[in-house]
Amino acid sequence: MSAPRTREDWQAMADGLSLRTRAFIDGRFVDAASGATFDCVSPIDGRVLAKVADGDALDIDRAVAAARRSFEAGAWAGARPTHRKKVLQKLAALIERHADELALLESLDMGKPVTDARQVDVAATVRCFNWTAEALDKVYGEVAPTGPAELGLITREPLGVVGAIVPWNFPLLMAAWKLAPALATGNSVVLKPSEKSPLSALRLAELAMEAGLPAGVLNVVPGGGKAAGEPLALHMDVDGLVFTGSTAVGRRLLQCAGLSNMKRAYMECGGKSPNIVFADAPDLDRAAEAAASGIFYNQGEVCTAASRLLVERAIKDEFVARVVAAGRAMQPRHPLEPGAPMGAMVDEAQTRRVLDYIDRGRAEGADLVLGGNRVGPVDGGCYIEPTVFDNVAHEHTISREEIFGPVLSVIAFDDEAQALRYANDSQYGLAAGVWTRDVSRAHRVARRLRAGSVWVNYWDGGDMTAPFGGYKQSGNGRDKSLHAFDKYTEIKATWINLGD
Ligand code: NAD
Repeated sequence: MSAPRTREDWQAMADGLSLRTRAFIDGRFVDAASGATFDCVSPIDGRVLAKVADGDALDIDRAVAAARRSFEAGAWAGARPTHRKKVLQKLAALIERHADELALLESLDMGKPVTDARQVDVAATVRCFNWTAEALDKVYGEVAPTGPAELGLITREPLGVVGAIVPWNFPLLMAAWKLAPALATGNSVVLKPSEKSPLSALRLAELAMEAGLPAGVLNVVPGGGKAAGEPLALHMDVDGLVFTGSTAVGRRLLQCAGLSNMKRAYMECGGKSPNIVFADAPDLDRAAEAAASGIFYNQGEVCTAASRLLVERAIKDEFVARVVAAGRAMQPRHPLEPGAPMGAMVDEAQTRRVLDYIDRGRAEGADLVLGGNRVGPVDGGCYIEPTVFDNVAHEHTISREEIFGPVLSVIAFDDEAQALRYANDSQYGLAAGVWTRDVSRAHRVARRLRAGSVWVNYWDGGDMTAPFGGYKQSGNGRDKSLHAFDKYTEIKATWINLGD
């Protein structure tokens, strides 16, 4: 079957979808123990897509018990690495086979353009499972440098039961960044997707079973943060907790780990990433397009959104004009329209939050030079124009807080030291960009930026080969690459006395 091409093709496919709406525990779909459901609303047009099982502590208990049983049984944890590799590769192939369906679920559920979901989210999810599967049987233990009378073995073992809590902005991909290394290293997992985007995770669990994952190794419990997320974070039989989401919740989850069993806890949290453009940037048009797509892509609902544009004063006005032109071309459209540059915000609450920040920007005296309004390409939906504030002061709220929407703050700087001071004066440290022709300055600035990812003369580089994560309150630990395995394994030292 060829991929849908038109909006009507996607709509016809959407009309024929059968949605998975129940929790996935111990290898089967089940209702929430309480029988409760919540409305899964599409921000495209405000339509209720489905009623989804509303999990709580009882369901988390059931899922953790199933995960523990499967872990102890050892069919997955004790399998040969080559077997785990084959299963995860098969899962990648199944995701690829169902790519259109999964892309559509993402788009319907959280409003992103279906073309982006297909070409970015689903494609990157396939690469994540394939890369991790391919890597898992190439990780060796170590032998300690001992004298002749002893042998010291350093080996990695799975944590056991891992709880994973993920957000709604890249629902499938954020789940994959946790699941692939957790499963590759032999853990059993309880995944709690965001209540704003539960659909793709439930389908993924079903595909994982089809790929050969034993029952209980992957469980998915949809539900609210307080009702289902906290019981998972506080659970005494969960060995590791991995999270992607806001800094406020990440902070709370670190407390939960401390308050319960001191489970390993790794948080990937928010950002307010600075994109620094010097007057000698190699190509101002390219830099302007990257500055615009860096903040407007995915409606600005990206942890690494280039939300602070720091521009050298000498070129500021000219550069902002180019960014505004590039942004103006990225108006939101119906997310099922192929090639739509922006889609819908995830829901009403997020839409209101972003509009509040826009009001705040105006009130604090920044100059609104593009957008600023809610718009209506589709009746009943949640759409905000690409928005640019010029002449923002470093101290303004919109320059300091994560908005998580299509709102750019432009701040002028006079020299490198000031640019670095602004860039680093933030509670966050997720990503940063620097544009310059001067190779010494590129290295110097990159080295001084306090951020987990730094991009020189482009934005959002990277693939599965490099770790991803934050400095400061953007989090701890790293997703992707071999470094991700560190979060899901304990290191054991075994000493053997070889003497008499
Ligand atoms: P959020 O923190 O509100 O929610 C994330 C998840 O945590 C959801 O599943 C939610 O149900 C759950 N949750 C909420 N309260 C909880 C609680 N008290 N206990 C347990 N679980 C709880 O974040 P969001 O709005 O879904 O996502 C946006 C945030 O995610 C932004 O801050 C963004 O920067 C961040 N993010 C970070 C990365 C990264 O890799 N650093 C990637 C994507 C998104």
